[in-house]
Amino acid sequence: TTLLQFKKVSKQYGSSTVALSDVNFSVNEGELVSIIGPSGAGKSTLLRCINRLIDATSGEIIFDGMDVLSIGRRNLKKLRTKIGMIFQNYNLVERLSVFENVLHGRLGYKTALVGALGFYHEEEKARALEILKSLGLEEQIYKRCDQLSGGQKQRVGIARALVQEPRVLLADEPIASLDPSSSKVIMDHLKNICETFGITVLVNLHQLDVALNYSDRIIGISSGRVVFDGMPSALTHDA
Ligand code: ADP
Ligand code: ADP
Repeated sequence: TTLLQFKKVSKQYGSSTVALSDVNFSVNEGELVSIIGPSGAGKSTLLRCINRLIDATSGEIIFDGMDVLSIGRRNLKKLRTKIGMIFQNYNLVERLSVFENVLHGRLGYKTALVGALGFYHEEEKARALEILKSLGLEEQIYKRCDQLSGGQKQRVGIARALVQEPRVLLADEPIASLDPSSSKVIMDHLKNICETFGITVLVNLHQLDVALNYSDRIIGISSGRVVFDGMPSALTHDA
């Protein structure tokens, strides 16, 4: 079944920069889709239109039956809880612990400060712990994030996204700041999350080899336009 659909989506910044131009594609539930293209192609803009961190200029985005571009404030919150996101630069609260960052994902920043004083529900803590363990972070739980390696920080980012029990995980260049071995760990986790929990994954990458290895499908974009949409095998067999 279709989880996400872009119909003639365009995004213009200011009066001259066209970041997305007439973008059409759809994503099925449980797919791992890589979005590839050079820097400036529009990949980050595309992902951010899905959870409305950015507002598309025109077109239609349907996510899980919701008309993303026309929903109001209250439903925007509901939309965002279904969408987890991770970033190239992690976007963690560096001076808080791993555990606090992960709980902050579900409860919001203010609540994280309250939670630091010990007011989380036991079931929320148990769930966060379980997710952190599954990502190999059991020994880092009480460390501050500024003491972690890049690969560990990105795993905290994944954990923070997963505690909210999202339908989809958006990953914006999640391995662009990591060395090859940490990159493999992160991509293996994304694949595993997709296969084990059926969470749909959309991942921006600029390395074609990684996309070929891990994706069910690849969407290529260049200058804001979709220039390829197909299985990895279509790219390898054509060459
Ligand atoms: P990518 O993720 O593929 O590197 P982006 O979506 O970040 O591409 O950027 C697409 C285009 O939009 C680029 O030309 C970029 O300079 C421009 N752009 C991105 N964000 C903004 C912004 N906030 N204001 C103006 N232009 C932007
Ligand atoms: P970057 O620094 O990578 O350009 P931004 O600062 O533009 O990223 O936006 C990312 C910030 O938005 C993060 O701090 C993140 O916590 C926050 N954010 C807002 N909505 C969401 C969401 N639905 N999922 C994840 N993060 C979100």
